[in-house]
Amino acid sequence: MTIIPYGKHFIDESDIDAVVDILRYGQLTQGPMITEFEREFALHVNSKYAVAVSSCTAGLHIASLAAGLKEGDTLITSPITFVASSNAGIYTGANVAFADIDPRSINIDPVLLSLALKEHPTTKVVIPVHFAGYPCEMEEIKPICDQVGAVIIEDAAHALGSKYKNGQMVGSCCYSLMTVFSLHPVKAIAAGEGGVITTNDESTYRRLLRLRSHGINKGDDQFICLDESISTSGINPWYYEMQELGFHYRITDIQCALANSQLKKLHRFIERRREIAARYIVAFADSEIVHFAQPSDALDRSALHLFVLRINFERLRIDRAQLMKSLRSKNIITQVHYLPVPMHPFYRKTLPVDPSIYKQSERYYRDCLSIPIYYSLTADEQEYVISTINYIIDYESN
Ligand SMILES: *Cc1c(COP(=O)(O)O)cnc(C)c1O
Repeated sequence: MTIIPYGKHFIDESDIDAVVDILRYGQLTQGPMITEFEREFALHVNSKYAVAVSSCTAGLHIASLAAGLKEGDTLITSPITFVASSNAGIYTGANVAFADIDPRSINIDPVLLSLALKEHPTTKVVIPVHFAGYPCEMEEIKPICDQVGAVIIEDAAHALGSKYKNGQMVGSCCYSLMTVFSLHPVKAIAAGEGGVITTNDESTYRRLLRLRSHGINKGDDQFICLDESISTSGINPWYYEMQELGFHYRITDIQCALANSQLKKLHRFIERRREIAARYIVAFADSEIVHFAQPSDALDRSALHLFVLRINFERLRIDRAQLMKSLRSKNIITQVHYLPVPMHPFYRKTLPVDPSIYKQSERYYRDCLSIPIYYSLTADEQEYVISTINYIIDYESN
């Protein structure tokens, strides 16, 4: 019997052809496929600019730098996220702080964010995370951040294909300076590894292009050193200059060919995730022990990167590890998203606070479980997942 993971990429012949085309005829890196993918991506989410990078983590790092984050500043994000969201702050030498989640959405709670901003007046960057694709309450978060001059960078690693209440796509940056996506195979579309930053601000866009490639001037950037850059016949043809400390965070044309081909299927991918989620919601609707972790009112707006159940383990004779092992022995792989970031050993020693103050995050963490959701999960496989979970829960309930 095949193994059913919690998430999985989907590759078809058109994806393979797109990659082979680059290998046969194209430029491997720094070529036109990168700009083509960036153009298509920006078009898809309705942003002015898109910058493709080597990963979402790299994207969050240079987005933080482009927002001006530096030593002495503070970055605030949600405890329930992948470590990359807060590590971006650490990379720049800034302090990191957290605002607890709203237990209804599992996203950062705008009221607690506004308290955290009062407590940390040095906050320069706020990173809301659209957890599992469920869009944050950006209509509330934006004015709260504007009031104290904090820059918003959205972590949309789960949210390619998600829409806000106003109907705009996540990535359109209608509430933020920048939005960052992941192209890791477990996310909505795959490049192998990769990330994309979108923005509507031209000077931010230009700075991201430089930061992606060593801090070297790009396009028609003004040169700083005129003596060396210009001679009597105009700009010296060999000349480039490193204007600030940047990184090598470039993606390749090979990866962008795959991502661009995948982007064409995004709509189909999301539609299937919505069908799967709708089926799970019906299947567990009457359960007293398991329920969907997020509101089901936004199924048509969430990209449904994950399907997370909350489980009342007080009603079971087994704990979560035993449940996961039992499902694993029946070829179903589940996962916990996430251990709250402040509970990681690095953050326990770095943060001045005890992680137990993020009560909603900890409570959520103790009883959550992500169950399989991905484009190629068949109806039969999903029924098998549902019946297996129900069987174990009935058998083990006290
Ligand atoms: C996956 C993920 C990232 C990091 O993405 P990479 O492309 O692997 O660097 C960042 N934030 C969240 C919320 C993620 O799920």
